[in-house]
Amino acid sequence: MAVESAVSTPPVASPGCEKHAKALEFIEEMTNNCDAVQERVLSEILSTNAQTEYLQRFQLNGAIDRDTFKAKVPIVTYEDLQPEIQRIANGDRSPILSSHPISEFLTSSGTSAGERKLMPTIAEEMDRRQLLYSLLMPVMNLYVPGLDKGKGLYFLFTKAETKTPGGLVARPVLTSYYRSEQFKKRPYDPYLVYTSPNEAILCADSFQSMYTQMLCGLIMREEVLRVGAVFASGLLRAIRFLQLNWKELADDISSGILNPRITDPSIKECMSKILKPNPELARFITKECEGENLASIITRIWPNTKYVDVIVTGAMAQYIPTIDYYSGGLPLPCTMYASSECYFGLNLKPMTKPSETCYTIMPNMGYFEFIPHDPVNPIPLSRDSPPRLVDLADLEVGKEYELVISTYSGLCRYRVGDILLVTGFYNSAPQFKFIRRKNVLLSIDADKTDEAELQKAIENASELLNEFNTRVVEYTSHGDTNTIPGHYVIYWELHVKDPENAPTHEVLNKCCLVMEESMNTVYRQGRVADNSIGPLEIRVVKNGTFEELMDYAISRGASINQYKPPRCVNFAPILELLKARVVSAHFSPSAPHWTPERRG
Ligand code: AMP
Repeated sequence: MAVESAVSTPPVASPGCEKHAKALEFIEEMTNNCDAVQERVLSEILSTNAQTEYLQRFQLNGAIDRDTFKAKVPIVTYEDLQPEIQRIANGDRSPILSSHPISEFLTSSGTSAGERKLMPTIAEEMDRRQLLYSLLMPVMNLYVPGLDKGKGLYFLFTKAETKTPGGLVARPVLTSYYRSEQFKKRPYDPYLVYTSPNEAILCADSFQSMYTQMLCGLIMREEVLRVGAVFASGLLRAIRFLQLNWKELADDISSGILNPRITDPSIKECMSKILKPNPELARFITKECEGENLASIITRIWPNTKYVDVIVTGAMAQYIPTIDYYSGGLPLPCTMYASSECYFGLNLKPMTKPSETCYTIMPNMGYFEFIPHDPVNPIPLSRDSPPRLVDLADLEVGKEYELVISTYSGLCRYRVGDILLVTGFYNSAPQFKFIRRKNVLLSIDADKTDEAELQKAIENASELLNEFNTRVVEYTSHGDTNTIPGHYVIYWELHVKDPENAPTHEVLNKCCLVMEESMNTVYRQGRVADNSIGPLEIRVVKNGTFEELMDYAISRGASINQYKPPRCVNFAPILELLKARVVSAHFSPSAPHWTPERRG
């Protein structure tokens, strides 16, 4: 079956060039031979890493087959591997997880004990990630031809990096990619021309980086054919940035003189070639941006945009209405599904609605297994007798699974934490809807806060209430994305013993800050360095509100014996009820502490 025949909206074009034809053939070959490719990948991983300390432990005795692997190697989480990972971080260069030298650590947005998980990676993984990237435009070109005739306006950012005690670099996977020679010295490809200069993408100062990328996007507005960022929240931040800074941007365009706030020498140097006085363009930008109307701002400023390239699946689905409003409903193809541990796959039907987005895992990227996901009766995963997990080619349509990966970098049977639903097959490769990540209660951007973290933050904050003889009787939370950036809202019902000595507004503000200080590093980085999360808000609700919530749930069929107040609410009627009972609102007076260095 060809790529064209497997789609509900048939593609309108054929491959853009010979390189594209080759990439599409590769997709065909991989998806037609899903099981055989998986078998080969596992045997390669096991033979390459046979002498590692980790695999030696399970006495595979040179076996590279699935049966032995599944029978002997346990299913693990990050916490299980932490001793090995810590040794690598501390400088132990012996082959612990991988026979290849660990080139760096990728820091995931998933955390463990409040810190980003450290994923050891090897140099050749960069090529594998690059391979997946190289498949995206050939697929997109089938649906949106002519993308070689213009540019992409992508807001891309690098983040702070650190060194582990043993001297290895630790940084997010995209920062690693943008700083790589593969990215910086990429050969010219007419399908991959961006308005943002490398100098702006690589600038660690988020204001200067964003300002320059926006300025270039405005200057080249008519050439822009696609607008994007990695996640939807990132693009919304860029639009908000435009709303706040259009005057300065228009001034620069009018005069041809770069804003003095841009001090990075390499940006100044490259902008001296790009920025020329253009009063007419400056007048246009002023006309479009003054006033409050942001409806269709994307298509008004960049009229040739054919689609908005951001991920809006999973936690990002909350941003679809706002992106639609800004873009006038342009298509939202979510092109790929990837993680720090491993890049998984791509969307072969990019023009479908986000609610129908499906990803096809490329079987060459790693070895993939699946735990049937049953939230009511979860499968016990004992280390001694691991259950037989389902292989990629054997999944059943309509069922949910938790993803387990084994990678060339040395992760073996590692639980990623993602829950996927199989929606169908492309050739012999299953296609998945991303359902959710396990244990995530709140998420605005890359942050993921779980129930235990929220609970701990509430406990820490409520200590400030002791001297007022006040305690938090009940609480719940909501990720409020009506503000840009979005922010966490925590609803508190308080028991105040002595109303004469109730906690003051200042104390409740301080409670917000203590909660933020208690959050994990990704949250705090979002608040401090990336400006991707707004100040946390506590809304105190009237006494009896949570009883009303219970009554409401029971009226809708919940069992009175089993009722537990939800720790996060998204259901509109419940949110309305909560909002109607708010007696006071409080915000963090300042940002929490954050530095790139890991704590402990
Ligand atoms: P990180 O470890 O920070 O690289 O984040 C990887 C995680 O982001 C994945 O395990 C998913 O939970 C989530 N993710 C990545 N790509 C997508 C996508 N296309 N749709 C929804 N969630 C995604």
